[in-house]
Amino acid sequence: MAKKQFKAESKKLMDMMINSIYTHKDIFLRELISNASDALDKRYYNAMNEGETGLDREDYKIKIEIDKENRLLTISDNGCGMSEKELESNLGTIAKSGSLDFKSGVEKGSEVEIIGQFGVGFYSAFMVSDKVTVLSKAQGSDEAFRWESEGVDGYTVSPAEKEEAGTVITLHIKESTEEEDYDKYLGQYTIQNIVSKYSDYIRYPIMLDMERTELKEGTEDEYETITEATQLNSMVPLWRKSKSEITDEDYNSFYQSKFYDYEAPLKTIHSKTEGQISYDALLFIPAHAPFDYYSKDFEKGLALYTNGVVIMEKCKELLPDYFSFVKGLVDSADLTLNISRETLQQDHLLKVIAKNIEKKIKSELEKMLRTDREKYEEFYNAFGVQLKFGIYSDYGRNKETLQDLIMFVSSNEKKLVSLSEYVDRMPESQNTIYFATGETIDKIDLLPQTDSVKAKGYEILYCTDDVDEFALQMLREYKGKTFTNICAANLDLDTEEEKEALRAENEEAKELLSFLKESLGDAVSEVRFTNKLKNHPVCLTSEGMMSLGMEKVLSAMPGANGGVKATVVLEINKDHPVADKIKALYETDKEKTAKYAKILYAQSCLIAGKSIENPTEYSELVCELM
Ligand code: ADP
Repeated sequence: MAKKQFKAESKKLMDMMINSIYTHKDIFLRELISNASDALDKRYYNAMNEGETGLDREDYKIKIEIDKENRLLTISDNGCGMSEKELESNLGTIAKSGSLDFKSGVEKGSEVEIIGQFGVGFYSAFMVSDKVTVLSKAQGSDEAFRWESEGVDGYTVSPAEKEEAGTVITLHIKESTEEEDYDKYLGQYTIQNIVSKYSDYIRYPIMLDMERTELKEGTEDEYETITEATQLNSMVPLWRKSKSEITDEDYNSFYQSKFYDYEAPLKTIHSKTEGQISYDALLFIPAHAPFDYYSKDFEKGLALYTNGVVIMEKCKELLPDYFSFVKGLVDSADLTLNISRETLQQDHLLKVIAKNIEKKIKSELEKMLRTDREKYEEFYNAFGVQLKFGIYSDYGRNKETLQDLIMFVSSNEKKLVSLSEYVDRMPESQNTIYFATGETIDKIDLLPQTDSVKAKGYEILYCTDDVDEFALQMLREYKGKTFTNICAANLDLDTEEEKEALRAENEEAKELLSFLKESLGDAVSEVRFTNKLKNHPVCLTSEGMMSLGMEKVLSAMPGANGGVKATVVLEINKDHPVADKIKALYETDKEKTAKYAKILYAQSCLIAGKSIENPTEYSELVCELM
């Protein structure tokens, strides 16, 4: 029988097809199973149209067989099959998709979900095999044919015997090499895994005879091998079922097995969207952050399916970074796939879906905050930091999306409050939102500046995460209220008279204050008297955008080398005995006054949680005065 030649450039194309389109060899099985599923769909569709009897929907099957000894892997279906001509044109012409042609003839909305469209998937079989045989009998015909090829060199088609309509594809699996293990494709568990990974939702049963060893009945040490026809796929995707059919348990166990979580999700969001683009989305908010969540190893993304077949395990375009904790999947028949069906050709529709998903997650979180506070706080404790990062990153582009989702512990009850709750209960005299930064709530509570803010009846937000102040600075304001760090120089707490009195006091002590500043050199930009302290003698404040807290965070970053510095002011409580003491001392002993300045500054550093530059000097000074 004459061997027909692929045309020269087809050879090249073929080689490319086999070796460079796909990144995962496993995918060949997905392609062949998808073809079989398409063939079953076509047969079913034709049968419905032509009133063919004899085959029930339940009889449609895809069967996989493994023959280890002869290195054969067989995938068969009782679908529409192919005639001699179709074998030639579909498998002899690269990039000819009989399925796509078929699809264009099918009425929209009918019960077929053809997957194929590029006419290349079949050739992926050559990634793992050195010879492929296709035995096929077209539906309604009584002739069968065998197509055979060893790859780039061409193919033969010859008459053959086959009883039932359908197709049997036999792959002769390559010998394993040092780089590549092909033997695994003759292992039942590998096949089972590949099917459940890529083809779990094919709507026809995919059967494999699986072997297992069992203790022979009535014996204690004799084993026997039992072979059992096993269905590898679960067929109906959970998200395609109608919501009323799905229980919470169904969702939870789906989530736990698919995303390897020992805990049920905190929230499940299942949405079906129809319109400009139709898709199903099944999303989960985990109850806790995965162990690698805040590390660079973590990969965000949703699984992407089209017609129940996995295209991508983690499509990161579907989730913004600030919602990266969401797990789940999207299934849409509307996406244009690229040729390997591993990625998408164009991402416009993907962007539309991503935007909708973002809105959906946001509104669900807002709803949770309104209606199930306890759950929201649980969520926030797990993932709140990510939301605050979201506000800060991308130059604040997403702050509007996120500002109503963030919370801080406040001084009122030491409970989480949202910004809107805070602003709604601000007293009328208060103009700005006060916050304080520190390692822990208790440490913040000890800051001398908190006293005067609390005394006014104003609430303080406690910022204990490094990102907090950066996020607030990015927000700039919330509902028209600015944010003020209680460690900033100007707290805006005084009446006009109080301000005036303080100004006069500082004016009068001008000479002393500049002497104190000189004694401290570059450590501070200014020394002044203040009325913002109740019992404490001193505090350290900052001026400008960079706060002491931010200085600390930024200096701790790798490569910072202490380059970032806040502009620091030493403030002395004007009503504290130490104020009078230093005024008097300045008149009599300048040298001692300079030493006092250093001690006061060191104290203010300690209170602010800033390390002292020269602890030895400080310790000596204190001893000297004692
Ligand atoms: P695609 O599936 O993208 O169309 P393939 O290269 O995988 O491309 O297959 C080419 C064509 O061969 C299919 O469109 C289909 O017409 C035909 N075909 C492949 N496998 C089968 C099968 N098992 N039964 C019937 N026809 C098949």
